[in-house]
Amino acid sequence: MSRVRSVIRPDVLAMSAYHVADASGLIKLDVMENPYRLPEALAKDIAALVAGVAINRYPIPSAERLRALIRQTMQVPAGCDVVLGNGSDDCIQYLTAAVAREGAVVMAPSPSFVMFQMQANFFRLPFVGVPLREDFSIDVDAFLQAIAQHQPALVWIAFPNNPTGNAFALDDIEKIVRAAPGLVVIDEAYQPFAGASFMSRLNEFDQLVVMRTLSKVGLAGLRLGYLAGRSEWIAEFNKTRPPFNLNVLTEAVAIRLLENKSVLDDMAARVLTERERIAPLLRGLTGLTVYPSAANFILVRVNGAPGRGTRVFNAMKADGVLVKDFSGGHPSLQNCLRLTIGAPDENNAMIRALKHALE
Ligand SMILES: *Cc1c(COP(=O)(O)O)cnc(C)c1O
Repeated sequence: MSRVRSVIRPDVLAMSAYHVADASGLIKLDVMENPYRLPEALAKDIAALVAGVAINRYPIPSAERLRALIRQTMQVPAGCDVVLGNGSDDCIQYLTAAVAREGAVVMAPSPSFVMFQMQANFFRLPFVGVPLREDFSIDVDAFLQAIAQHQPALVWIAFPNNPTGNAFALDDIEKIVRAAPGLVVIDEAYQPFAGASFMSRLNEFDQLVVMRTLSKVGLAGLRLGYLAGRSEWIAEFNKTRPPFNLNVLTEAVAIRLLENKSVLDDMAARVLTERERIAPLLRGLTGLTVYPSAANFILVRVNGAPGRGTRVFNAMKADGVLVKDFSGGHPSLQNCLRLTIGAPDENNAMIRALKHALE
């Protein structure tokens, strides 16, 4: 239809929609979901709670109770506040909207989470990706130079980083935060598996905001993310946030789950135990480079010519295991596969399939 072509932005016409692989019948280890369901008693409790929610009413945009519970359970420092999102993807969008002055530069390490750049593009902001070193650590001198040159309004640092899985050195991040002339957002989507956080340091740096999500600790389907920072920042993001972005069911369920946060902590601990169990098993396979992980996934590189990674991915899929293939994406991720940590049985099947595929 020519009207579509004349109305829709050319860059949007040229894009493809975010692709989610069909996982039916497969062991699903592609998108960092937590493998565990809630304990049955809690699931039943939630069913009763949901039955009582007034879905005929709009959500109350302030979500006071949930925000208070997040401040308390996530140790958000005094003087700081939180603003909620329909997943942290939503936070990335309305935060970018709030900083989108004409020509404002958005910067992030590269490769990193693709939404940082996508949202910059949607708001027509120039995006600068600063290449990571070969071992995926931050090239801090290059980063500081890029900051001096481009004066970014917004710097995103995923800590730990996706898709590489490593946590950048705290010292390097601190240097970037101090040098940045604008806002720095530390995306702590994987914090429950990392054992390090900038949350307690929000008052130390005026320019710092921390973003988190409950997606990677077992609630990916619920869609709840949040930004934590000095109240002055949060008040502004609250203006570009769609007022009813958090639905009443998510709000009610999240409150109940955070009241039972030990359930979430236990699931994260089990995943962490699995990561420590399988990392050495992966390192024992020949033909594979295994990168260090502080997250609930492990990035590996299949040694060999371009194309081998995708062949291994396809062979694993034929063996019933879906992981994520990064060949054909960012050039530094050629032959890389991202393996989400699942339940012990799933991980064993994944390692069997990978070993088989490498033979
Ligand atoms: C998964 C992920 C998110 C997005 O999570 P939501 O499900 O939208 O909350 C944000 N940042 C990084 C680095 C991620 O890997």
